[in-house]
Amino acid sequence: MAKLTGIEIYKHLPKTNCGDCNFPTCMAFAMQVAAKKVGLEQCPHVSAEAKAALSEAQAPPMRTVTFGAGDRAVKLGGETVLFRHEEKFHHPTVIAIRVRDDLPEGEIVQRVEKINQLQFVRVGQLIGVNAIAVEHVAGDAQRFSQAVKLAAEKSPLALVLSSPDPQALKAALDICAERRPLLCGATKENFKEFAALAKESKCPLAVRAATLEELAELTQQIKSLSVEDLVLHPEIKGLADGLAKLTQLRRLALEKNFRAVGYPVMVSVTGSDPFLETALVSTFVCKYASLVVIDGAERWQLLPILTVRQNIFTDPQVPNAVEAKLYKVGEPGPTSPVLVTTNFALTYFTVEGEVENSRVPAYIAVVDTGGLGVLNAYADDKLTAEAIVKAVKSYGVMDQVAHKKLVIPGLVAVLKGEIEDLGGWEVLVGPEEAAGIPAYLKNEWK
Ligand code: SF4
Repeated sequence: MAKLTGIEIYKHLPKTNCGDCNFPTCMAFAMQVAAKKVGLEQCPHVSAEAKAALSEAQAPPMRTVTFGAGDRAVKLGGETVLFRHEEKFHHPTVIAIRVRDDLPEGEIVQRVEKINQLQFVRVGQLIGVNAIAVEHVAGDAQRFSQAVKLAAEKSPLALVLSSPDPQALKAALDICAERRPLLCGATKENFKEFAALAKESKCPLAVRAATLEELAELTQQIKSLSVEDLVLHPEIKGLADGLAKLTQLRRLALEKNFRAVGYPVMVSVTGSDPFLETALVSTFVCKYASLVVIDGAERWQLLPILTVRQNIFTDPQVPNAVEAKLYKVGEPGPTSPVLVTTNFALTYFTVEGEVENSRVPAYIAVVDTGGLGVLNAYADDKLTAEAIVKAVKSYGVMDQVAHKKLVIPGLVAVLKGEIEDLGGWEVLVGPEEAAGIPAYLKNEWK
């Protein structure tokens, strides 16, 4: 990313040191702008030319493009790094499922309703499909409009409207313009009509080309028609070609600051083989698709894809942790078990899920281990007998139960004696794996 220094910004300022920006000098202001602590607009005296020069140079290397409306709107792009560990990836890949307009109306409705159900709770978060891509393949504009109408009526998800015919697209757009769909896609043959439609409707526009050179040329032509919200749609031939193109586009945008491709990228995957489709999509989620359109609408296909997405788009610099406190599963009472675990989110939600599966109401006392799982926390001296006793005492849970028994993870059975000495409770060693919790609570908990 081309980042301007304070000196470069200072050159464009009026240099009067008037103080209207709340900084004593123009130089002090320039340094704060360079550090991105204040915006250029805080100086009321910057000339239009300077503003244009600075905003172009300071624009992010990849534009953020939004489509959809309300709480179902989705953001594409805005990425700043090639590798997640350098900072984080910002906007999770949008997953859109294709609905072709050559299906009978009843099947379109059925498919849309099925897509609506593709939502899952994983590690305490709701993850799911974000968009429906209605594709014009029947060659009949009315049929396309009807398919778009059904999708818009039956689903709150964001919409992608895909047609090679600008007139058909315009008619369909009239039905759902307030949903701000992504229009797909302009080519070198029709880009003027598509650009006019995107400009008039203020909808983002996907740009399709066979090569990256053509794509770059096309974005510049469309940008000159005052359409800024673009999504790149390179034609790909299989995994290797797709990975190569997506990686080149990301490198050109972020490392070379090549503005002509500084946009989010979408990929269309068609799946005669659902296993291959799932593998392809999971790969493109990792590198580097902002939007993927797929055929597969089976739960077994979506769960792995969404799991990959959830993992890739978590912030690696923030521990994936839950609050360390006392949790209740069901409505526990004086005879309910008290289980101990750590505040690593994956550990906690796995334990919570298995306790729920057992249908035995229980307390879960979560110890603050800085977001580490059981064994790592033990190895790092964060899950010690002292830490467990301190946490359990602070939650007051042993005053709420009559049995004074504490169930610790089997992986730290070695702490049993020390906890008993420090806490004065009976310590039971639970299973090593969370999957063993239901059987343990049903058969061994007394
Ligand atoms: S308001 Fe503008 S001109 Fe005045 S001191 Fe600040 S940067 Fe300089």
